[in-house]
Amino acid sequence: MIYLDNAATTAVSKKSADAAKDILDNCFGNPSSLYSLGAKAESKLSSARRTLARVFGCTENEIYFTGCGTESNNLALLGAARARAAWADTVVTTAFEHPSVQNTVRELASEGFKVIEVKPRGGVIDPQELLSHVGKTTALVAVMQVNNETGAVNDAEDIAKRVKEINPRTAFHCDAVQGFMKQPLSLVSGAIDTVSVSGHKLHAPKGVGALYVRKGFNLKQVQFGGGQERGLRSGTENLAFAAAFAAAISEPDTGEYARVTALRDKLRDGLSSVPDIVINSPQGAAPYILNFSVLGYRSETLIHFLEEREIYVSGGSACSKGQRSHTLSAMGLPVERIDSALRVSFCGDNREDDVDALLTGLEAARKTLRRTR
Ligand code: PLP
Repeated sequence: MIYLDNAATTAVSKKSADAAKDILDNCFGNPSSLYSLGAKAESKLSSARRTLARVFGCTENEIYFTGCGTESNNLALLGAARARAAWADTVVTTAFEHPSVQNTVRELASEGFKVIEVKPRGGVIDPQELLSHVGKTTALVAVMQVNNETGAVNDAEDIAKRVKEINPRTAFHCDAVQGFMKQPLSLVSGAIDTVSVSGHKLHAPKGVGALYVRKGFNLKQVQFGGGQERGLRSGTENLAFAAAFAAAISEPDTGEYARVTALRDKLRDGLSSVPDIVINSPQGAAPYILNFSVLGYRSETLIHFLEEREIYVSGGSACSKGQRSHTLSAMGLPVERIDSALRVSFCGDNREDDVDALLTGLEAARKTLRRTR
């Protein structure tokens, strides 16, 4: 099997699965219980939290475990905007955020916030344009670190700093689900208030995420219950998956970025000699994601053709199944180009052979399949 859809999800690594199993087998206590079984569970949870804090470059108390990246985004956006509703009325974001951000800010619109979605130009967000919408009554700015469909990168820290220069009370949220451990993101300046990440994009199981919340940041709770995670995310913690998340990321692979860049470059070079292929990822995109269109062929048809050869790629975001890509639409691409788009996304386990097989598969598809026009 050649798996090239790592932006959708990744295979669970052995060390991550082992960490989950160890907890399931040996540590069933509730971290909130007062007796020793609870204390043992609480200590394992703290250890997982410490690992995330180390990788984030923040303190343990700034990490909150959640159920997924979507939940982290909901908590950060709803909590930050609602905490500022007394004096603020606007949310500024990009038009190519993941649906877990886009639909959450749309919910805020139904609560009375004015939402401004800045479109990418040439596939990237112009920070100056985004900042021109920030003012005295801006509650929140949300900018993703790496776009999940094209790999477009935003310099979140720089934008956050400039937002704070305009209005220090404005909250800044960054969805780093596709960028965490892949692109640098410094929290040192304190300009970024909240950051979402998700385990299953990093070889941990699906169903665990985390939210960084800067110390002292005002975030209103959106979930009510027993007050776990210092009151921000009530619900008994998923200790097994928190440990699995920590195990998956505890030893970053320092050579991965260079290897993945070489694979992406090899693929892009290979595609450049195939007629009717146009690259949709912008210049400077993260190497983990390459989006391109095979003009004259529909994405679904290509995906299934490749699947028969056990090559897995996607047509866009796995979360927008069947819908026309809002990212490529926001980029202003023609419909034919959007409908023939493929997204290839790498992880550290991919090899050159995978790229060769994909290029051969695409060549075969072009020879075998009937063109739509
Ligand atoms: N944000 C981005 C950029 C994503 O790519 C995804 C998942 O694809 C999410 C958020 C949602 O994460 P999860 O699947 O953990 O809910």
